[in-house]
Amino acid sequence: MDANIVVMGTESVGKSALTVRLLTRRFIGEYGDIESIFSHSFMVDGREITVNIWDSPCSEDSSVETSHLEKKVQWADGYVLVYSICDRASFNTVSRLIQIIKSTRDFLNADKAPIVIVGNKRDLHHRRTVLSEEGRLLALNTDCHFYEVSAAENYHSGLMVFHGLVGRMKDAKVTT
Ligand code: GDP
Ligand code: MG
Repeated sequence: MDANIVVMGTESVGKSALTVRLLTRRFIGEYGDIESIFSHSFMVDGREITVNIWDSPCSEDSSVETSHLEKKVQWADGYVLVYSICDRASFNTVSRLIQIIKSTRDFLNADKAPIVIVGNKRDLHHRRTVLSEEGRLLALNTDCHFYEVSAAENYHSGLMVFHGLVGRMKDAKVTT
């Protein structure tokens, strides 16, 4: 199986940090603004699944053109939506992106696709402005999965997020 994953969220929430964690196991601190699609293989239930991961520097705030957003939504089979637990606006953006993804896919008559919500920068808990419960509740209300992680501190955070999503994508493909 080959599938596409897009990583979305506002600027500086840690989209690249999470992606690079998955690919290299490292946290390098600074990430360029390069638009990239990476390939990565996972073993899920004894099967190899290769995914293409689109990480882009652009910020999905309300100033972004809808056509650009729609292109990403259409391309992907699964979504990683990242916010920072220290940035309320980035959480609101994730909430808005969920609605956009769902309505765009409905409009395109596309199958339902799994979405993972990620509250990043858990290590900065002294600056927290978004409670864990808020993330969990958003996920519950929108039928998404939720993780709170620190790409900076936790070696496993990238793997956990993407592996969790790929497992759900496999389920989605099998049941259709
Ligand atoms: P992007 O714009 O969403 O791709 O964000 P980046 O991955 O480039 O990260 C933005 C900044 O936040 C960088 O300076 C990272 O080093 C930092 N950063 C990313 N993840 C974490 C995290 O989990 N904790 C902390 N403290 N900083 C992080
Ligand atoms: Mg980036």
